Amino acid sequence: MLLIDNARVLDVKKGRIIENARILVDGRYIADVGTSGEVDESKAEKVIDAGGRVVMPGLIDAHMHLSGSRSGDLIKEPLLVSYETFVARAVRDLEALAEAGFTTVVDAGGLIALGLKQAVEEGTVNGPRIVAAGAPLSQTFGHGDVHYLPIELVDARSPHGLRQFASLICDGVDECRKAARHALRMGSDFIKIFTTGGVMSQRDRPEYTQFTLEEIKAIVEEASAAGRFVHAHAEGDKGIVNALQAGVKVIAHADMIDETGIQLAIEKKAVVVPTLSVSEHILTYGRELGLPEWALEKEGFLFKYHVERARAAWRAGVKMATGTDFWGGVKAFKHGDNALEIVLFVEKIGMPAIEALRAATINAAEAAGLGGQTGSLEKGMLADLIIVDGNPLENPRVLLKKEKILFVMRSGAILKDKLPKE
Ligand SMILES: [Zn+2]
Repeated sequence: MLLIDNARVLDVKKGRIIENARILVDGRYIADVGTSGEVDESKAEKVIDAGGRVVMPGLIDAHMHLSGSRSGDLIKEPLLVSYETFVARAVRDLEALAEAGFTTVVDAGGLIALGLKQAVEEGTVNGPRIVAAGAPLSQTFGHGDVHYLPIELVDARSPHGLRQFASLICDGVDECRKAARHALRMGSDFIKIFTTGGVMSQRDRPEYTQFTLEEIKAIVEEASAAGRFVHAHAEGDKGIVNALQAGVKVIAHADMIDETGIQLAIEKKAVVVPTLSVSEHILTYGRELGLPEWALEKEGFLFKYHVERARAAWRAGVKMATGTDFWGGVKAFKHGDNALEIVLFVEKIGMPAIEALRAATINAAEAAGLGGQTGSLEKGMLADLIIVDGNPLENPRVLLKKEKILFVMRSGAILKDKLPKE
């Protein structure tokens, strides 16, 4: 067994620091946590000295995309860059995420993450655990239907499909059911759908509803029949309510969530992942990065609602999780900077630091379908942890500095060790 000694352990559940603590790791799991008097060190074969620093659960991004993109030009890049190059870049992004203290990421749509899951699990790639949607389900003229391209280039089942996009386009209850089964056949950990339009889809708007209630219900039914859940992109109020009524578990973006949506989210114990980071960055850097004018216009419109509605949801008691919606390596949406969402929860929504840290750990674990397995440092949980040179409870911005994340462990495997050695 491995002992992490001389630690200040952040107990995210109780919102306290356990001083003079230690963690005993047995293989992939935490065997014991407590003060040095409580945890027996006799079984430890190896000791890591945390040097009196904070040890906290590994960070989780509950909504992002390992697309391998390096530009804001969503139109030209997939036509000019090979799929293999996108994959190679996604590997770099996984390494950057591990460096930054992320031990789990939820890829909310895309084939690359689905394909790289095994490479991470077997240790070929040094990265966070991937929970992947694979091909997302979109209606024709939906957010996942890349409107400016011929539909044969967009659908994952088409022989001419561009793998950089690859949605499952489906309309009507039967097609939706079949598409959900197809996603499961491809190995999806959960089903990703779009129940409203969005910013980065050319011809729709965030207020438009997509899929009917019956279509969404059929998809939820197929997912739960296979022990999975549904994660919806939902921005406008009506599409959010439809998703919640149908039993969708994770609502991403939720820019315009209204009071009905908030009450339903609480009642159904859904998790809201507002992805403030992507909105902030589209507004700040979008023009410079060459994002299309129609996307910038829609983001400007949504911005009036987004932070205010996220705050209203949080204050009402909705469970919130951090997710960035970052998709690649360009300066504004770069993997490795994903702790930004924690900082925005504190600085924009007004959450106390401990709540933002819960959102990035226990709550995000629930949004990943890994509740009770990761997200807190307790006996029996996966040994997913980081050692931070600083106290994120006092200053969450410390998590943005990769050089302050000294040690990263995912399921007992050491992904980074920059602890000073004697
Ligand atoms: Zn997304």
